[in-house]
Amino acid sequence: MSRLWLRHPLACWTGTGEDADNGIVIDGARVVELVPHGHTPATDCDQTFDASAHVLIPGLINGHHHFYQTLTRALKPALNKALFPWLQALYPVWANLDDEAIYASTQLALSELLLSGCTTAADHHYVFSHLLPRAIDVQVEAARTIGNRVTLTRGSMSLGESAGGLPPDSVVEPEALILSESQRLIRDYHDASPESFCQIALAPCSPFSVTPELMKESARLAASEQVLLHTHLAETADETDFCLKRFGQRPVEYLAEVGWMDERVWLAHGIHFNDAEIEQLVRGKVGVCHCPSSNMLLGSGQCRALELNRAGVRVGLGVDGSASNDGSNMIQEARQAMLMQKLTYGSDQCSHIDALSLATRGGADLLHRPELGSLGVGQQADLALFKLDEPRFSGHDDPLAALLLCGAHRADFVMVGGNWKVRHGTMVDQDIQDIMARHGVQAKRLRERWNTHSR
Ligand code: ZN
Repeated sequence: MSRLWLRHPLACWTGTGEDADNGIVIDGARVVELVPHGHTPATDCDQTFDASAHVLIPGLINGHHHFYQTLTRALKPALNKALFPWLQALYPVWANLDDEAIYASTQLALSELLLSGCTTAADHHYVFSHLLPRAIDVQVEAARTIGNRVTLTRGSMSLGESAGGLPPDSVVEPEALILSESQRLIRDYHDASPESFCQIALAPCSPFSVTPELMKESARLAASEQVLLHTHLAETADETDFCLKRFGQRPVEYLAEVGWMDERVWLAHGIHFNDAEIEQLVRGKVGVCHCPSSNMLLGSGQCRALELNRAGVRVGLGVDGSASNDGSNMIQEARQAMLMQKLTYGSDQCSHIDALSLATRGGADLLHRPELGSLGVGQQADLALFKLDEPRFSGHDDPLAALLLCGAHRADFVMVGGNWKVRHGTMVDQDIQDIMARHGVQAKRLRERWNTHSR
């Protein structure tokens, strides 16, 4: 058995307040010892890693993404638009996605996340067309090649334009098929164990793209299969107007009506809540994934993340899809959350530690993964080491604060479940240049197919 001591880090933030100033010890897939200031490990270690130039933190957890959107970054027809017109510009492009595009975009997004220190990611894939009936199967295969842990959500859209929804009819599916496919994916791929690298959750897309019946049936299926539930909610004022017009209810009333006041649920965005709705979410044990970059880019509004968190709502952090960010960088997203929450609440609020907590333990809470998101004894050895050797860090005092204040963007070493996945800023198992080249080809093919079909 081999024990590895990550020794004498420049700074070590465990996420729990425990002292690990002299590093941590890893045995197999787990953290087995925290080494306090002035101490050495209590048991012999046969390997050591000199972390004296590194800031050590738990692996970051991304609570909301759409990997496929990396193929439509900075797409000209979608620039400078709010959510609804932005979606309407992009749906016809996404209708041309196929297996190869999904494989390449999943690999690229997970690589980008990994290199930013992200060891666990949730993805919300909701585009299923005749070209792409088995997107999640392809994602499972692609995720295995990169090595982050994933929660892949079987998303869905069933309310097309002709029935009063926002998406075109070409990308909506029959509800019976959505439910049978959801069940199949859970049976084939969902691993509920604490060591799990792949979990499946159910994720009807949004109030304006699925029916209340599908929301109810998805909640029933999630309860019977014991998996999590995810959707977009309260992202824009347009969405609130849509809900009032179509259902005669605000989004949270609608959510309660369809049986989603449940601890299995985490919502993407959660911006437009009033005080009474925040209390209702606390009682319902519903979680919220804050996506600051996307919210700023689409001008959607400012999530009351600190208030939600302090009221008792589970709050995590997500980069959201790469057509509304347009990057997939988790350490940068933690900086964005810190800046946005300071802007909302004042400079003495949302410290770098508060933002890092959202990006680690907050995400673990959303995804019901208590074994992740911190570096306590017994936790999974998922971690990231950042080197402060770029011009942006020069002259810093507090190394942990410098990570966010100076804008770290790339981890030097990343470990998932006790295995190094990034060394010296380079992926261990994959060639990022090769992944980028194949991804670029797929993005070009997607634009060409869209151009052909829209002519
Ligand atoms: Zn989203």
